[in-house]
Amino acid sequence: MQDHLVRVVTEDGHLRAAAADTTELVREICRRQQADLTAKVALGRLLTGAALLGCLLKGSQRLALMVEGNGPLGRMMVETDAAGSIRGKLQNPVAGLPPRNDRFDVAGAIGRAGFLHVIKDLGLKEPYRSMVQLQTSEVGEDLAWYLTHSEQVPSCVAVGVELDEQGEVAAAGGFLVQALPPGDPEQLVALEEGLSRLEPTTSLLRQGISPALILSRVLEGHQFSVQQETELVFNCPCSRRQISDMLAGLGNAEIDAMILEQAGAEVACDYCCENYSFTKEERVSLRS
Ligand code: ZN
Repeated sequence: MQDHLVRVVTEDGHLRAAAADTTELVREICRRQQADLTAKVALGRLLTGAALLGCLLKGSQRLALMVEGNGPLGRMMVETDAAGSIRGKLQNPVAGLPPRNDRFDVAGAIGRAGFLHVIKDLGLKEPYRSMVQLQTSEVGEDLAWYLTHSEQVPSCVAVGVELDEQGEVAAAGGFLVQALPPGDPEQLVALEEGLSRLEPTTSLLRQGISPALILSRVLEGHQFSVQQETELVFNCPCSRRQISDMLAGLGNAEIDAMILEQAGAEVACDYCCENYSFTKEERVSLRS
C-alpha cells in the first residue's frame, strides 16, 4: 500500500482525526540516515508525527519538528509540507542502546530531558515557533502534550514503528484525534479508554488494514466523513545551488581550506545524504 494520510471530521463536528501509513518513507529515510534499530524507531515516530501534524497545512505552508534531548541521538529534525513531502535527519544515527523490557529504548535514546520545537512557516513574515519540555521522550505523548497545552487543542497522538527480524522497518504509522472547540473534551476522554484496547496501528497496517479503516476503529461509535486524502512521500528539496550558497556562506578561510583539497570537494546534504562535488574552479568561484 502506498504511504498516505486520511483526515476526517465527525458528523457532529466535535472531533477531527487523521491516520497515516508512513512505512515506505520511514524505511527510505532511515536507510539514508544509516539509523540503528532504536534510532529507526525514534526517527520513524517523529516522521509519522510530522505527517499527522502536517495534515492541516495548505498551499506552500511548511512544518518542522525538532526533538533535542540529552540522549545519544542528539538532535532529530523532520520537515513536511502541504503536499505530503517529508524528510528527516538525525544528528547521531547510532543510539547504541540495548532494548529495555523487550522494547526499544526510545526515551533513553532521545534522553529524558530536552525540548520539542515546533516551527511552522505559514507564509507570514515570521515563522511561528513554539517549544515545550519533553514529557516522556516517547514522541507520541510529547506531541499530544504540545497540541493540548501549547496549541490548546485537546489531542491524542499514537505513532509507531515495527521492525522485522532483520531490523528493517516492517510497518510505520499512527493516528491523531483532536477535540475541536467548542466541543466536549469529555468525548476525547471517553474515546481514549477505547483506544487503550486498540491493537497498535503498526499491527493493523501489517494486517492490510488501511488508514481509513483504522479511523473507523479509532472513532468507533461516531459517524464521520473523509475530508482529505494525501499521498505521503520522502522528498528532499535540496539542490546544488542551495549547497553552494551554504558553502559560500562559510567564509573565505573555510573555502581556502577546501580549495587546497586535491580531489573534488564533496559535500553531502544532511537530509537525503546525496553528494554534491565541486571542482577546484568551482571552489575558487565561491570566494567573495
Ligand atoms: Zn537533500
